[in-house]
Amino acid sequence: MDRYKRPYEFIDIPLKKKIEKELEDRESKIHKYYKICFRCGQLKMLYEFSREKRNTDGRLGVCKTCKSRESLKYYYENREAILVRVKKYQKDNPRDRSSYFENYRKLNKKRLEKIAKAWYKENKKAIKKRNLKYYEDNKEHCQAIRKLWIKNHKEEIKKYNREYNLKMRGGDKMLRKSKKGFTLIELMVVVAIIGVLALLGLRLYTGQQDKAKNAIVKANAGTIQTLIQAELADATVAEVEDMYDGTDSLTLLANSGIRNPYTGNAQTANGTAGTSGNAGDVYVTLSGDVFSVNGNDADKSDVYDTPLTAKK
Ligand SMILES: [Zn+2]
Repeated sequence: MDRYKRPYEFIDIPLKKKIEKELEDRESKIHKYYKICFRCGQLKMLYEFSREKRNTDGRLGVCKTCKSRESLKYYYENREAILVRVKKYQKDNPRDRSSYFENYRKLNKKRLEKIAKAWYKENKKAIKKRNLKYYEDNKEHCQAIRKLWIKNHKEEIKKYNREYNLKMRGGDKMLRKSKKGFTLIELMVVVAIIGVLALLGLRLYTGQQDKAKNAIVKANAGTIQTLIQAELADATVAEVEDMYDGTDSLTLLANSGIRNPYTGNAQTANGTAGTSGNAGDVYVTLSGDVFSVNGNDADKSDVYDTPLTAKK
């Protein structure tokens, strides 16, 4: 049959031959390494088909993905029947698997140990936490077991201790010599450095703590301001004043849930400004129809230079 010439067929013979051979090779390679799946019709690499000795190319006609999809579908459609069948089979053919596992452990001892070590290294913290929790929950039980173990292994422990002592006494003398201790000057330098560090740290630390606490007082004052503003929406100025000055039994401050950061206690009554008040307390004052909210810092001076206000 006549056909149109391909572009490379116009050029010189050796090159043409070379190109044709390459193309041929490529096609044969495709036949060698690729196969079309019966189900999905896709061209796939050979390793994507399961092995099958009866086929000429040694592979199944259906690719692995199609196969697994099919079997999963079958499983989900006939799940109950399959489970019943499996249970029945297990009942009819009881098998002791312990010997199998033992054998497996024996054969793969090194590999398993390696895996276990890696796992332990990765989950060390979680394991310690879990163990500590178990110990806390079952303290008496654990201590009883420990006592029993010591009682049962008394001789072994004594032997171990004796050997350990001997080893340390007769062992590495050089090591012990170098670990004798510090000289007096070294100790004094260390103590001086620790003192300076402690002083620096303490000053920084207390400063930071007060700053953080004052921030909480400011936030508390903000909460009270918001609450007062909310109450003013449907209560008169006098009614709102009753809510925090002690006239009403359930005060606005008690219901606000704010906590004095310096004492850690909930503030239930209105605070007092200045040196007669408490550090960390929030206080509300009313002048005219404007509510002012402010708080005391560590030195019992106002946390806000201009107080927060609320007005109907
Ligand atoms: Zn397929």
